[in-house]
Amino acid sequence: MTSDAAADCLFCKIVAGQVPADVVASSERVIAFRDISPKAPVHVLVVPKQHHGDVAVLAAADPALLAEVVALADEVATEHSDGQYRLIFNSGPRAGQSVFHVHAHVLSGARLGWTPA
Ligand code: AMP
Repeated sequence: MTSDAAADCLFCKIVAGQVPADVVASSERVIAFRDISPKAPVHVLVVPKQHHGDVAVLAAADPALLAEVVALADEVATEHSDGQYRLIFNSGPRAGQSVFHVHAHVLSGARLGWTPA
């Protein structure tokens, strides 16, 4: 685990290879793996390897890294689906965030409805 890792962070453990994941793509600073409980035919989580709690924290700390997350999400959706996708960042428990290491949900492979609540 790198010095950037947070203690007891599931996604830091996946980045470090300490917890298995179905990795579909990676770059120097970003990794993408399949969600363990998919909500669409393609449901991939795109995660910066460095620990940041949510998307606003990441955007403030390293906007270029946020752009790398978006770029890898687009690559995944193009490679594993038709390049059309929904990108979701849940921020805070009431918005559905359960893992407090920022991650983009890439949802694709079907016509998506809109029922967030
Ligand atoms: P969120 O609720 O937005 O924080 O998203 C966390 C996501 O992580 C959920 O969609 C979970 O299904 C997913 N998840 C939890 N544990 C794992 C795991 N070990 N491997 C892959 N995805 C996971």
